Amino acid sequence: MVTENLKTVEKRIRAACGRAGRKREEVTLIAVSKTKPVEMMREAMSSGIVTFGENKVQELVKKQEILTEPLAWHLIGHLQRNKVKQIVGKVERIHSVDSVRLAEQIQRDYEKQGITADILIEVNMAREESKFGFMPEETEEALREIAAFPNVCVRGLMTIAPFVENPEDNRVHFRNLHKLLVDINSKNIDNISMNELSMGMSGDYEVAIEEGATFIRVGTGIFGSRQYI
Ligand SMILES: *Cc1c(COP(=O)(O)O)cnc(C)c1O
Repeated sequence: MVTENLKTVEKRIRAACGRAGRKREEVTLIAVSKTKPVEMMREAMSSGIVTFGENKVQELVKKQEILTEPLAWHLIGHLQRNKVKQIVGKVERIHSVDSVRLAEQIQRDYEKQGITADILIEVNMAREESKFGFMPEETEEALREIAAFPNVCVRGLMTIAPFVENPEDNRVHFRNLHKLLVDINSKNIDNISMNELSMGMSGDYEVAIEEGATFIRVGTGIFGSRQYI
């Protein structure tokens, strides 16, 4: 199933890139494997997937101990400050930095190991009560504070769009996140030069690619629906 699903996803990514006049290499597919067994991840790996997304620290670390192949792990879920130390040096990107205090904790824990964290700032574009992330208008101010942390490198912005029936409904949020990135870059804030946009999930990644996504996070579309216990 995973192999077949990946073929479909890949075809759709290429078509979206084509429509947007973008190169396929500009978009990284993150296979979101949360709640799914490592056997399914191995199936994805045999189709060439090397980039996985997990939303829980404990699950990520546990799977990393089993899958020792060279893989790129992305933490995409809300991160509690007391868990940062468990992922230092273990993830390619932290997508979900949603407070200055979290960035400060990342600074402290990464500095201890003498390494830099590559992060994305989560923005709540649709202003949903239930979601984490900065409001769009708070983002610049937060970035100015985070820019002062020498062991934290802000690579770009991330958003989790609302669950919608029609993916076109999320286009405005993706477009506005892209605009926000361009707008903040244009202010030439010291240490802030962002070129990554993490946006688009199973239901709407094609629209996200058309609007400039560089990372798409696809779970259900690859591994099937999740069962939470
Ligand atoms: C679960 C999750 C995804 C993947 O969602 P699907 O709809 O299954 O593709 C993407 N991003 C985040 C932050 C998630 O938690």
